[in-house]
Amino acid sequence: MICIFLGAPGSGKGTQAKKVCAAFGMKYIGTGEILRDNVASGTELGKRVKVTLVAGHLVDDKTMIQIIEEKIKKEDSFLMDGFPRTVPQAEALDGLFEKYGKKVNTVIFLDVDAREVTKRILGRFSCPSCGKDYNVYTDDIKDRLCPSDGAQLIQRSDDTEETVRERIEEYSRKTAPLKEFYENRRSLINVRGTGSPSEIFERITEALDNKN
Ligand SMILES: [Zn+2]
Repeated sequence: MICIFLGAPGSGKGTQAKKVCAAFGMKYIGTGEILRDNVASGTELGKRVKVTLVAGHLVDDKTMIQIIEEKIKKEDSFLMDGFPRTVPQAEALDGLFEKYGKKVNTVIFLDVDAREVTKRILGRFSCPSCGKDYNVYTDDIKDRLCPSDGAQLIQRSDDTEETVRERIEEYSRKTAPLKEFYENRRSLINVRGTGSPSEIFERITEALDNKN
C-alpha cells in the first residue's frame, strides 16, 4: 500500500502518520525528518540542504524527488509525510512512481478546523529545564509551570496568534489545489481531525480498511 498524508501544521499529522505505519506495516517516509537527519549527520546532501535552508529557501523539487527515489525504490508499502505540498510536486511524484511501477493508493487528508489548530499550536509550551513539551490546553498544567520540576514553561517565539493564523491560511491556500488533484484521481479520503488522538487514529484506520 502506498499512502500520502496531508494535514495542516498542528493537525497532529506526524504522530498519526507514524501510528498508521506501525499498524499497517508501512515504512514511514517523512521528508522533513530525512532532511533534518541529513543536515545533522553532515552528509553531502545535508550540507547542500543546510546552505539552502540558511539562505531562507526551500529545497528544490528536483532534489526532493532524488531523495525520495532513494528511499522508495525498494519499498512496496510506505507512507509519505511532508511531500508533496504542491500540484507540480504531486505530478513529479507520479512520474517517479510510474518509473518503478508504483501507484498511490490512498491520500489521507486530516481535516482540522483552522480555529482548533490555532488553539492547539498556541497551547504548545516547553520546559527550559527538562526539555519536555506540553500543551497547556490538554495537559494537566497549573500556572504554566512544569509538572515535573516546577520551572516556568516557555512558548516558541513565532507561535503568536497572528503568525499561526497566517501559517494555517497559507497552508489551506496551497493545499486546496493538491486536494483537488487527488480527488480527481479518486484517491483522497477526508478524515475529520478533531477529537482525541485515539479517536482520530480510529477514523483513519477505518477509512483505510474500507478503502483496501
Ligand atoms: Zn521541566
